[in-house]
Amino acid sequence: MIDFSFTEEQIMIQKLARDFAQKEVAPRIKELDQKAEFDRSILTKMAELGILGLSIPTKYGGSGGDYISLGLACEELEYVDTSLRVILSVHIGLNSLTLLSWGTEDQKQKYLVPQAQGKKIATFGLTEPNAGSDVVAIEAKAQKSGDYWILNGEKMWISLADVADNFLIFAWTDQEKRKKRDHSGMSCFIVERSFPGVSTATIHGKLGIRAGNTGSISLSDVKVPKENMLGEEGEGFKIAMFALDQGRYTVAWGATGLIKACLDHSVKYANERKTFGEVIGKHQLVKEMISDMVSGYECSRLLCLKAGWLKNKGLRSTKETSLAKMYACDASEKASSHAVQIYGAYGYSDEYPVERFYRNSKGAVIYEGSREIHKLMQADYALGYRIDKPTRCTLPLPEE
Ligand SMILES: Cc1cc2nc3c(=O)[nH]c(=O)nc-3n(C[C@H](O)[C@H](O)[C@H](O)COP(=O)(O)OP(=O)(O)OC[C@H]3O[C@@H](n4cnc5c(N)ncnc54)[C@H](O)[C@@H]3O)c2cc1C
Repeated sequence: MIDFSFTEEQIMIQKLARDFAQKEVAPRIKELDQKAEFDRSILTKMAELGILGLSIPTKYGGSGGDYISLGLACEELEYVDTSLRVILSVHIGLNSLTLLSWGTEDQKQKYLVPQAQGKKIATFGLTEPNAGSDVVAIEAKAQKSGDYWILNGEKMWISLADVADNFLIFAWTDQEKRKKRDHSGMSCFIVERSFPGVSTATIHGKLGIRAGNTGSISLSDVKVPKENMLGEEGEGFKIAMFALDQGRYTVAWGATGLIKACLDHSVKYANERKTFGEVIGKHQLVKEMISDMVSGYECSRLLCLKAGWLKNKGLRSTKETSLAKMYACDASEKASSHAVQIYGAYGYSDEYPVERFYRNSKGAVIYEGSREIHKLMQADYALGYRIDKPTRCTLPLPEE
């Protein structure tokens, strides 16, 4: 039987994330967003509270918790601002959970432990100026030289690029395979900001997530020790897809929180603003928008819970996670558009948070697999074109 009640631990983590976001960030988020300023003290506080080590076992410096706890935390963080959830998506979802599943014991001790403790911040560098959805089109390359790999390339649109200490970088290690677009020629490397030849920059003028950092990473003859290859040579593509299975899960939960924020603000305003002698909540077309948000929230949450349930059991959830991500992000874009509409002209200014929600909602429809890529995936599963091969998909539970 499916059980929809949460455990005490899950509720505790949900409350921890909610209290942190509401007390520490909500009062300042408007200003941070307006100034397009990433506030590093937020990371310090998240580290102190153990939020940066959620779902990482305590034996690796984390604070434990299962996939549902991680999801609930993402929902609470994005309820306040998308930039907070993005931190968890890259630091935990795309990077730390990938290290946990694919790293050697030495790599876990050296990189995962300080990341889970929040002493080091981590992100994920796959996208390039000429390659996003088409991962095999990346151009970054790594050449073997003695005990090192020499990395060259440009990564673009990387969350926390100008903030993180550690990066997972994907590059071609086999140029012949690259020419044939054979993804078994790609590998993954753990790269430290401190390695000579690494430089980063921030992208300015973004539509949304302005309180977050997004940027580029330049790699110029970066000497990466051979023990920093994650997985085996040629496993980079598989690792990237594994990482995205974790990251998309956090994005889906975050989008669900964004819908809830739109709903709560809209309900409040609809019960206050009057036109034609009654509050606008009494008008049927406004009710329709509220109803869309209710169904969007409930359906997104159910899809997230199903993906989390599969993940907790150590079962493959690529299809379910993709569907949750696709549906929730679409629903959050729609909900935030409705929220601006319900606020009328006031929704069009930054006096109320709904315009920020609207701008923030768009990114998730593009990153971690655009809406179109997820639609293709879902259709391919339905048509039987996609064979879901077993892969590493397990978070050790609980505290194994
Ligand atoms: C705020 C933000 C943060 C990000 N953070 C990260 C990060 O931390 N790490 C990282 O590696 N990347 C990150 N990205 C990059 C993101 O993952 C890519 O933008 C995304 O994969 C899409 O790639 P693209 O932008 O190159 O678009 P393209 O791949 O060029 O696609 C352009 C358009 O064509 C559509 N399209 C492409 N191929 C098909 C197809 N076969 N069928 C139908 N339609 C198609 C797409 O859906 C899209 O609408 C981030 C992006 C943003 C905006």
